[in-house]
Amino acid sequence: MSIDNRERTIPANRIPDYVKKILKQICYSGYSAYVAGGAVRDIVLGRNPHDYDIATSARPEDTVAVLKGAGIDYFDTGAKHGTITAITPEGNIEITTFREDGAYSDLRRPDEVVFKTTIEDDVRRRDFTINAMYMDSDGRIFDPEGGIGDCGDHLIRAVGEPGKRFGEDALRILRGLRFSSTFGFDIEKNTLRAMEKCAGELSDISGERIASELTGIVTGKYAPQAIRTGWKILSVIIPEIGICHGFDQKSHYHDQDVLEHTLSVLNNIPYIEGRGRDPELALAALFHDLGKPECFVMDQNGVGHMKGHPRVSSKIAERVLNELKYPRQIIRNVYLLVNLHDTYVNADRTAVHRFMSEYPEEIMDKLPILQRADILAHSHLGQKRLEHLQAITDISKELKDSGAVFKIKDLKIDGNDIIESGVPKGPVVGEILSELFERYIDGKCSNTKASLINEARKIASTKCV
Ligand code: ATP
Ligand code: MG
Repeated sequence: MSIDNRERTIPANRIPDYVKKILKQICYSGYSAYVAGGAVRDIVLGRNPHDYDIATSARPEDTVAVLKGAGIDYFDTGAKHGTITAITPEGNIEITTFREDGAYSDLRRPDEVVFKTTIEDDVRRRDFTINAMYMDSDGRIFDPEGGIGDCGDHLIRAVGEPGKRFGEDALRILRGLRFSSTFGFDIEKNTLRAMEKCAGELSDISGERIASELTGIVTGKYAPQAIRTGWKILSVIIPEIGICHGFDQKSHYHDQDVLEHTLSVLNNIPYIEGRGRDPELALAALFHDLGKPECFVMDQNGVGHMKGHPRVSSKIAERVLNELKYPRQIIRNVYLLVNLHDTYVNADRTAVHRFMSEYPEEIMDKLPILQRADILAHSHLGQKRLEHLQAITDISKELKDSGAVFKIKDLKIDGNDIIESGVPKGPVVGEILSELFERYIDGKCSNTKASLINEARKIASTKCV
């Protein structure tokens, strides 16, 4: 089918001037050049592209000559693969020569690329129809694969033969789920079947690349829908997801199986337009109950109990996130959130103060969000806990508003004050400070220098110093 039959024009002012300028410079030199891929998709969907990629018939050395001639800075991103990056004050633009990809022996990067001169050759290397549209500097869209139609039908569809395309590069499988999660699109039947069939090959993809897509999948606006569609695929990375699918909890507190409950919790994690979901909270929601099947025991009344599941789930989270090489900080925070998701301290000032002192502030800020999301995904009976959570949250706010401190270092005295009060230098100073902090939390003294020194003296006398 000729490209012209699939041509559409949308207002050219949707392409920013700094991008148009480069398109025109390349075209003046006799080459063709288009904005391609994700930016065109975003424009068609009425979204703001976060960056712009250009596809051109100019070979990398020709692109360099055009940029030099126009006085535009650039760097060589990977001329072997056809990419030169133009540097502009408004942002960098990757300019890639039309190309056809050769074999993929590592399922990751094509072993060789062949530079081409027409869009028809370039389009075949693109993953999905919605990512295979091109726009010229006048705003004309070239859409040889029917991407506009699929945007309208809300469909993710592979370009070419799906099995072959996912066989070449298994990462495309997760990209498909990520786009489904971001846009709320269904995955076309044959495309999904091929994704499931090729999912085993994800084991050949590096942890970091999987991690980046997994984060995109869980933080997307339509994450629950995408994970429900892709649970078999995700089970290759996290086998516990497959075990939780359809797992009946046999509990009065739940009216959903473990995976459906998990997706409801994820759905309840706030999604903020333009920012998405907090990745740590989204990951914690995904992992929070995955240890339940391992902990499941049924009593003589046929009721299920899953004691200890937060600890088991946190171990699963730690294992998977380590395998995927997530940053240490994220692993620690997700681990703690999962581990604590079922911990509800007594709703009294001392208990809440002590709990808040035991964990980093960011965990204490995020935990109630996870717990609320979790409670709201329980049966009517299970939702009774909401009042308890609210009481704890109120106390924690009162504590913060009243200027309470949560770390020894924030007390109004330090080791030097204790030494000045007559205690000899040594480990005993630290012991006194720790005990002093406990007494402060118990309400036995306030956080003023006089009150703390007075209490420190009492502690010192029990230690015979
Ligand atoms: P995002 O909004 O995440 O940037 P994107 O579609 O722009 O989405 P990029 O990774 O920036 O994704 O890639 C730009 C374009 O390159 C894609 O739109 C697609 O046409 C093509 N592409 C990227 N990765 C692949 C891949 N693994 N296989 C085939 N085509 C790909
Ligand atoms: Mg992009």
